[in-house]
This record gives sequence, C-alpha cells and structure tokens, in this order.
Amino acid sequence: MNQNRLEENLNEYLHNLGSMFSSSGGNPDLKKYKQIDMRIRQTVLERAKYRCQTCSIKFTPNIQPKFQHVNGSIKDNRPVNLKALCSTCFKLVEKNERVDPLTRVQNIMKKVFNKK
Ligand SMILES: [Zn+2]
Repeated sequence: MNQNRLEENLNEYLHNLGSMFSSSGGNPDLKKYKQIDMRIRQTVLERAKYRCQTCSIKFTPNIQPKFQHVNGSIKDNRPVNLKALCSTCFKLVEKNERVDPLTRVQNIMKKVFNKK
C-alpha cells in the first residue's frame, strides 16, 4: 500500500530528524516551544498514530495535519498541548482557540448539527 510506505518513510525521516535534536537535551521550558517544529510535530503525530484526533482520517500528502492548542494558548506548543487535526476538523476549532474547552466543544457540536 502506498499509504503504508509513505508512513514508513515519514517515520524514518522523522526519527532521523528527532535524533538530531535529542542531543541538545535541556528542560522543556516554554521558550523552547515557541514554534511547532518538526520534533514536536513528530511527537504529536506519532501519538495520534498519524490520524486526525477528531475524525480519525489518516494524514496523507493531500491531508496535512494541523495542530490545535488544547489549552487555547497559541504560545504553548508543547506536544502535550497539541492535537493533530485534519484541516476540516481544525476549521471547527480554529476560531475557538483561546476559548475554554467546554465552549469549544459546544461550538463544535453546534456546527456539526447545524450542517444538515
Ligand atoms: Zn478530522
């Protein structure tokens, strides 16, 4: 399968990239996470098993992952604060970044149910 091969290549690539970074070590302070770098992407994507964490669609070159900030702070790019989403699901939460989680969920539900 094409997709599996792609995932293998991506895994290998990210693994190599990750080992490049790992030597730097250090404490996970927020300054280090100003940007969502490849290493953070790797961690989040691996955790999400390369699927959208909302609708479970598999990421491909055509479906690029977007990253939602779980606690709403766009400056907090620690992997634990990031959720891998497809662009469709990201659109639903994008506007709600910085809004409390319950309101966010309610907004998503509203949109989902109003779509019909
Ligand atoms: Zn999705």
